[in-house]
Amino acid sequence: DGSAPLMLVRGLEAWYGESHVLHGVNLEVREGEVVTLLGRNGAGKTTTLRSIMGVVPKRSGSVHYAGRELIGARSDIIARAGIGYVPEERGIFASLDVTENLMLPPVVRPGGLPLDEIYELFPNLRERARSQGTKLSGGEQQMLAIARILRTGAKLLLLDEPSEGLAPVIVQQIGRTIRKLKERGFTVVLVEQNFRFAQTVADRHYVMEHGKVVDTVRNEDLTASLERLQQYLGV
Ligand code: ATP
Repeated sequence: DGSAPLMLVRGLEAWYGESHVLHGVNLEVREGEVVTLLGRNGAGKTTTLRSIMGVVPKRSGSVHYAGRELIGARSDIIARAGIGYVPEERGIFASLDVTENLMLPPVVRPGGLPLDEIYELFPNLRERARSQGTKLSGGEQQMLAIARILRTGAKLLLLDEPSEGLAPVIVQQIGRTIRKLKERGFTVVLVEQNFRFAQTVADRHYVMEHGKVVDTVRNEDLTASLERLQQYLGV
């Protein structure tokens, strides 16, 4: 449709020191959409999420979100604008229990989900409310990491490989959670290497190579596009 995208990324470039890693990433995400960033190791997927979130040393270009330009903004301002980031390493505090981890985000805005709603969305976390971070399974840690950013009031969720290292049945649970979040109106950008999983959750896919978006494909066209995408994905 013709409505403005929730986020419009144009000509995004990023550097780690001397190393120029993103070379003009273009993508857009509509409200309520789930899109993936696919591509090989080192294609720049993680750096794209980190650049949107303002946690790379140097970036340029444009990240327009909900009517604001965020490229010059600090990451706490970006969080307040409504973007939440779950890094691949998840960042759970091992010595704190589930509830304490959930209470931790420093940025809690109006619209942040209260604990009871979090536990409604993540019933398995309710059961584990008093369990320490160290005692949680990988899947529970991933759920907790996602739940925690919902506390902050984030509406756009940037998820880095939520399926990574998890057993297939747990990956399915994560998929159900992402679909529930979409039903509730959240918008999701996720980095994935797990092609099959990506296909079960996303509306659309962006394919990255060498620090650029080189292709985009609607989910219903993904299977038919496999041959074309093979060169980028190594599937
Ligand atoms: P992966 O799944 O391996 O994380 P990716 O597509 O997410 O792949 P990035 O992690 O964004 O890729 O990495 C893009 C490029 O940036 C790679 O060449 C990588 O070596 C480099 N890079 C990533 N992080 C750093 C860093 N902290 N310092 C220097 N170079 C980095």
